[in-house]
Amino acid sequence: MLMLGAHCPNPQSSIPNPQSAIPNPQSAIPNPQSAIPNPHNTVLIVGAGPAGMMAAISAARAGARVTLFERMDRPGVKLLATGGGRCNLTNTLAPEAFLERFGRHGKFLRPALAALDQRALLDFFNQLGVRFHAEDGLHYFPASESAASVRDALLAELRRLGVPIVCRAESLSLWMPQGQLKGLRTPSGDVAGDCAVLAAGGKAWPSLGSDGSGYALAAQAGHEIITPVPALAPLVTGEKWPTRCTGIVSPGARLRIDLPKRSRQGVQGDLLFTHRGISGPAALDISGEVSGLLMERDNVPLRVHLTDEPSVEIWLSRLRKWRESRPKKFLRSLVAEVLPAALAEALCEEAGVEPDLRAAHVTRSQCLGLAGLLAAAPLTITATEGFGKAMATRGGVNLREVDPRRLESRLLGGLYFAGEILDVDGPCGGFNLQWAFSSGFLAGLSAAEETAEYLGRGVRLFPL
Ligand SMILES: Cc1cc2nc3c(=O)[nH]c(=O)nc-3n(C[C@H](O)[C@H](O)[C@H](O)COP(=O)(O)OP(=O)(O)OC[C@H]3O[C@@H](n4cnc5c(N)ncnc54)[C@H](O)[C@@H]3O)c2cc1C
Repeated sequence: MLMLGAHCPNPQSSIPNPQSAIPNPQSAIPNPQSAIPNPHNTVLIVGAGPAGMMAAISAARAGARVTLFERMDRPGVKLLATGGGRCNLTNTLAPEAFLERFGRHGKFLRPALAALDQRALLDFFNQLGVRFHAEDGLHYFPASESAASVRDALLAELRRLGVPIVCRAESLSLWMPQGQLKGLRTPSGDVAGDCAVLAAGGKAWPSLGSDGSGYALAAQAGHEIITPVPALAPLVTGEKWPTRCTGIVSPGARLRIDLPKRSRQGVQGDLLFTHRGISGPAALDISGEVSGLLMERDNVPLRVHLTDEPSVEIWLSRLRKWRESRPKKFLRSLVAEVLPAALAEALCEEAGVEPDLRAAHVTRSQCLGLAGLLAAAPLTITATEGFGKAMATRGGVNLREVDPRRLESRLLGGLYFAGEILDVDGPCGGFNLQWAFSSGFLAGLSAAEETAEYLGRGVRLFPL
């Protein structure tokens, strides 16, 4: 194992004994439960992604002695890849609208978001010297346009707080003699700790670190793991016409699952056609639900609204008008007035319209076929592109077994969870990183024996 950290300069040195770590300057903050300062809680954190690093910072700032364990050879590898290397940290949505986008799990997120909302997260980074802007009025990116500035700020703060990071830490398990949490078992020996925070992520994009191995630790404590499936993943279509439009973006498309009892609303956003089917925010946002359905059925029917007009009748009357008023125009050129040219051509072909067919010669059945596709084209999803290309995981530690107010296990005292390891996934647009940081913040504080009541009395750990 390799250890990084300001007070652990020798990379060959073994795992530090957290009991002998340097006292933390924040340790003077009293514990509200005992009214006696409790600076000696030892918190062991598994996973140095955004959730784990934030948990380490909040626990250390609250006075705990913290050690962070990471299976990769560097911390925060996935963080560097976020937002195409630019890191879409969070967004400008009001808290209620933000929570709504997490669907039925939104309620679970409420205490963590209350502890560290978007404004507080931006303030936190501002204090660490990283500025953000939301140029489109919605998505926050660092002014540096570099995810590295976010990761480096976290590492600098961890260094300042004296938190050692043990890298290449594989094969960890909980050390729980007689069913009580005593720390972590590692191949190099047991490490004592009062609390452990599991922040090992899910299974998405395993080459960036999170390979699902964290679930085994949660399961060791008796936690149910809701079967993880890829979310925010590109989709594979049975139809071939999308693949003929590879690289084309259809802005503001609407996608919905064409099955009974599924939302008629669906999702809306840019849709990117790929060599295997569809991607882009609209496809990615619906992929978690599609993945879940693909566990029960061979394929999932979708309807894609590529134009603003969802009525077949209105498209039929437009096509009729075109036939009368612009008879010499190629039909595909007319359709290309409302859709990108390659897409117009692919839809015409799908409706059986030859490329050089003029509007005057279009048949009634061709009109019907084309009107249907322009109103709501059917697509059959046969698969997702899998965890290898997924940006999030749907499934994970069952939320029913975790107290959302402290993010503590209801099954094993002293065990906490943060980030994607839990059964929480949000859409594209800074939702998942905000969740990782908010939950990391709350889990770290809770593990350091702070309480929600304590925060509620107005004691501010952020800003420092
Ligand atoms: C390509 C890509 C781009 C993305 N872009 C964005 C974006 O712009 N905005 C956004 O909001 N979200 C984005 N996401 C999602 C976001 O990155 C994740 O939701 C977030 O990183 C989850 O944080 P986490 O700390 O819970 O897990 P992770 O970031 O996965 O971190 C978990 C860490 O734990 C380590 N680990 C795993 N198992 C073990 C173990 N057994 N022992 C020790 N260590 C372990 C891993 O190596 C990893 O470093 C993106 C995801 C991907 C893949």
